[in-house]
Amino acid sequence: MADRMTREQRHRCMSRIRGRDTKPELVVRRWLWHQGFRYRLYVKSLPGRPDIVMRKWRTVIFVNGCFWHGHECNKHRPETNAQFWQDKISRNRERDARNQALLQAAGWHVIVIWECQLTPKNRLQTLRELDLALSRIILEKNGAQPQRYTLPDHEDIEAPVAAESTTAYGKSAPRGEKA
Ligand SMILES: [Zn+2]
Repeated sequence: MADRMTREQRHRCMSRIRGRDTKPELVVRRWLWHQGFRYRLYVKSLPGRPDIVMRKWRTVIFVNGCFWHGHECNKHRPETNAQFWQDKISRNRERDARNQALLQAAGWHVIVIWECQLTPKNRLQTLRELDLALSRIILEKNGAQPQRYTLPDHEDIEAPVAAESTTAYGKSAPRGEKA
């Protein structure tokens, strides 16, 4: 694929990568909050400094940028310095896998959500699946094997987003701890 980003755009993209409060993260956090989940952010004492940590449910959520973390969907593969980026991204992928394995070994459920799963088109479906994954974790709280949840991709979904109101989720009683 052609690299359509200018140098400056690329720089902005890269500098945002380790950043906080990215738009996809905010989508997930806002949804969790409305569902009554309480969480901590960027917990440094855990491997990989997870974006969202719900201690009560022994669950961490990583909201991964597709480029930096090497999602297969990625359409912005640079042609300039391709080898450099490939090496960098595969190192990131290895580090992600290592951190996730460490977390699971320590008894944490690991949920990975990709940026592309949170586009306006895919968001609703992805949040539904997140809801399912969390429900499973809550139901199996005692005696559950720590698992890694990967939500499916929905690149082919063409349903209009406006067809369903997001308020359908409603508000429920708090299920989490105090943030
Ligand atoms: Zn992606």
